[in-house]
Amino acid sequence: GGAPIYNRVALIGLGLIASSMYWAMKRGGVAGHVTGYARSEETRETARRIGLCDTVCDSAEDAVAGADLVVLAVPVGAMGTVAEAIAPHLAPGATVTDVGSVKKEVIAAVGPHIPEGVHFVPGHPLAGTEHSGPESGFSTLFDNRWCLIVPVAGSDPDAVARLTGFWQALGALTDEMDAEHHDLVLAVTSHTPHLIAYTMVGVADDLRRVTDSEVIKYSAAGFRDFTRIAASDPTMWRDVFLTNKEATLEILGRFTEELFALQRAIRKGDGEHLHAYFTRTRAIRRGII
Ligand code: NAD
Repeated sequence: GGAPIYNRVALIGLGLIASSMYWAMKRGGVAGHVTGYARSEETRETARRIGLCDTVCDSAEDAVAGADLVVLAVPVGAMGTVAEAIAPHLAPGATVTDVGSVKKEVIAAVGPHIPEGVHFVPGHPLAGTEHSGPESGFSTLFDNRWCLIVPVAGSDPDAVARLTGFWQALGALTDEMDAEHHDLVLAVTSHTPHLIAYTMVGVADDLRRVTDSEVIKYSAAGFRDFTRIAASDPTMWRDVFLTNKEATLEILGRFTEELFALQRAIRKGDGEHLHAYFTRTRAIRRGII
């Protein structure tokens, strides 16, 4: 690419998303110098060993010093604490963003710590895998995937435009959305499906006494595809449900209503209902690439 979009970027938290951002930044010459910090010594050592970040720092404060972009890439429940710790060390004019899967609560937790003269522009790349940690990242994770930019009241338009250009340079498509809407959309498209996948694996495990190891041995394509996401990081997903409580409970309520209707149709042998339902949902699913 041309000139870097940010001269100094600090990545706080070095998991799947931050490591993928690093490799994508290097691929495209999107950033000058990239510093990184993770809470665990082990993660920092791994990062140094695999060359993840130009400099791995032993404190978040050191990592953000002089950065013009600071990316909070820790589990959603840790965002506020991290923001509080780095706040006094942020450079004037810097932009702080995050990649958290939930937006309303993160904005409430981080926003109050952002000092005068520093921009806060939340974001959320809709890209991931069931893998986690510093070694799970890869440069193409964001290619042609959406990154939602969620400006807050008073977000500086230039800071928003610059962050948008940054994500596009990492390969992503971008859109803007407000936090409330984001959290409801994600509850439908990501959060509730994860919960259902976790549940299905739990059910299969409960049945182990009956089915022995057959669930695993004969794990049909449906079960495998559908439950892949249940291997995702437990801390990350605990935090998603603790912080997107309202929207996930709303969607879960609707989900259980539909499930009960299907349950009743099965009990009554109502093939018409089942066929009509599956026909409708097939058409909808086929409309999604
Ligand atoms: P990950 O589990 O791979 O990595 C999290 C990193 O944060 C680890 O390096 C961990 O050591 C570090 N960490 C945890 N608590 C910390 C703290 N208090 N201070 C400093 N470092 C800390 O997670 P990930 O998948 O990269 O997720 C990071 C963020 O991105 C989360 O907020 C998540 O909601 C969001 N996100 C995840 C996905 C996904 O599919 N995995 C997709 C989009 C957004």
